[in-house]
Order: sequence, then structure tokens, then C-alpha cells
Amino acid sequence: MTDSCPVCVHRGIAPAAERRHGENVVHGYRCPACGHTWATARHLPAYTPTRRSAA
Ligand SMILES: [Zn+2]
Repeated sequence: MTDSCPVCVHRGIAPAAERRHGENVVHGYRCPACGHTWATARHLPAYTPTRRSAA
């Protein structure tokens, strides 16, 4: 999942690192244009297109 640099708005940056904490995932990024580093945390179920019903 790519992200945009918050400093220079360089787009389509692939994550350099990924850490999972249960249902959350934190992607670490490093901008190839300006060298800025940052991390974006996401809640995985929000990105799951289908839910399995617990029938
Ligand atoms: Zn940048």
C-alpha cells in the first residue's frame, strides 16, 4: 500500500517496513525524493473488502 510524502507530496511511495499489531498494521516509509521518513498506522479490517459472516 503506497503513500504520499507529507513534506514534498511525492506520490506512490512503497512501504520500506511493515509492523503488525493485532488488527493494526504500521507501514514505515522513506521518501526517495527528500529523504523524509514517517510511519502510517492502519486498521486492517477497514481495508478488507469482504467480511466473513459468523454464521
Ligand atoms: Zn518527500
